[in-house]
Amino acid sequence: MHPVLALVVGLAVTQVAIMVTTVYLHRGLAHRALTVNGPVAIVSRTIIWLATGMRPREWAAVHRRHHAATDTPEDPHSPAQVGFWRVQLANAALYRRVARDGVTVDRYARDLPADRLDRVLFDHAFLGLGTGVVLLCLVLGWETGLLAAAIHAVSYLMLSGAINAVGHTAGRRVHPNSATNVQLLAFITAGEGLHNNHHAAPTSARFSLQRGEIDPGWWVVRLLERCKLASIRHHDVKLRSVA
Ligand SMILES: [Zn+2]
Ligand SMILES: [Zn+2]
Repeated sequence: MHPVLALVVGLAVTQVAIMVTTVYLHRGLAHRALTVNGPVAIVSRTIIWLATGMRPREWAAVHRRHHAATDTPEDPHSPAQVGFWRVQLANAALYRRVARDGVTVDRYARDLPADRLDRVLFDHAFLGLGTGVVLLCLVLGWETGLLAAAIHAVSYLMLSGAINAVGHTAGRRVHPNSATNVQLLAFITAGEGLHNNHHAAPTSARFSLQRGEIDPGWWVVRLLERCKLASIRHHDVKLRSVA
């Protein structure tokens, strides 16, 4: 058992999963701020499957509903509606409940139908998560692998929760919407902590809008674009007045 190695690997897996979540699921699928090419999409879907078990179309649908109904009773995870700690600690349960309500995915992700790969592989969450844990155990040994998987699970869930909980509660509100910018959170969530900026310009692939702000997710988006692996919808930032 190597606890330090498990900690390093667990946190590294979380950072990779968060980067793919923000670049592919969030900026790419949910907002169409960028479009990645076929091989990048397959790699991204595989990482999401192995590291989170989430279905991309469900994630995109729940998130689009969050933008459409921000901090109203229809918002799937509003700290103003259900309380800070419920969003911080039970974010995944809030997602799952709305994703499986039989309405949200039909309404908000009509453009993201399941394909053959989803049906065969990516829709099977436990197969993905189980394969991910087995891979960690094969590389690190079973004790260290299980500990790394547990550390990843907790850190991914807590950081995802923080984006929705802290990101609508505390921090700077530069633009007129209920979300907040927290640069410290943005450092450890691949830019997602600049949530006030994101609500002000949801179709922008770049979340850093003011001087001095840092958005690591944008670096990856630009790298993909320079390598001709992705195209960015627009480089000028279109600000929305509310939400
Ligand atoms: Zn938000
Ligand atoms: Zn968004």
